[in-house]
Amino acid sequence: MSWWSRKRGLTTELNEKISVPKGMAIRCEGCSEILVENNIKDHHRVCPHCGYHSRLPTALRMDNLIDPDSFVEHDKDLRSEDPLEFMIDDQSYKTQIETSIKRTGATNAYCSGSATISDIPVEIGVFVFEFMGGSMGSIVGEKITRQFERAIENNCPAIILSASGGARMQEGVLSLMQMAKTASAREKLFKANIPYISVLLHPTTGGVAASVAMLGDIIIAEPNALIGFAGPRVIKQTIGQNLPYGFQRSEFLLEHGMIDMVVPRHEMAATLGRLLAWF
Ligand SMILES: [Zn+2]
Repeated sequence: MSWWSRKRGLTTELNEKISVPKGMAIRCEGCSEILVENNIKDHHRVCPHCGYHSRLPTALRMDNLIDPDSFVEHDKDLRSEDPLEFMIDDQSYKTQIETSIKRTGATNAYCSGSATISDIPVEIGVFVFEFMGGSMGSIVGEKITRQFERAIENNCPAIILSASGGARMQEGVLSLMQMAKTASAREKLFKANIPYISVLLHPTTGGVAASVAMLGDIIIAEPNALIGFAGPRVIKQTIGQNLPYGFQRSEFLLEHGMIDMVVPRHEMAATLGRLLAWF
């Protein structure tokens, strides 16, 4: 059973945490319109008035993209170690991991497996942003590498949905090494003529943006997603200048040739299906 099963696992746990009383009104962050929570859920958490894309729980996102019951998860049992015995705010890294596992139902910040989209087999992986900000440590890097190797073995395209704050600081340089490791694995895909589609979600930043996320043959982003290495506030402080309107957002990156497409959430599955058929 996949970890985002609607009956058990992450979806249920996440829904319990994010759900609000039935019919509760929320304010759209894009247009300030008052929306009914149940109504916006029906629209995949996209505002029907202005198209603002609210964050979608990872589990629901996968449900929207892949063919029903087609997912077989791999490498679920890989668990992070704590080689640096890292402590932050009197809490060990090990404790942080255990807390995240209990809270999200996922075993790490990345989930990958074999599935089909429009009946076409793919090796797909998704960053679990709810798990320590989707940060890339050594297990995430290993899972991405294995996913690419399976894509070569099975001769099918690879897809990664990125939503990440970047490298996992609790693993220090080991997490930074995952940038090189995943980029190297991606090069093997390229040499094997296996297509790789990268889907960038809000936010895709830091070491993930600076490595595997921006190395797709085709790079797609959801509308208004924040995509970049350092955040806009840091850049503004560093260069001492105001940044242009929409800086580091999907549409800005498309305009400047950094990505290939901006695709609304409700069109993402059909777009991936078309691209896969084309490949
Ligand atoms: Zn709105």
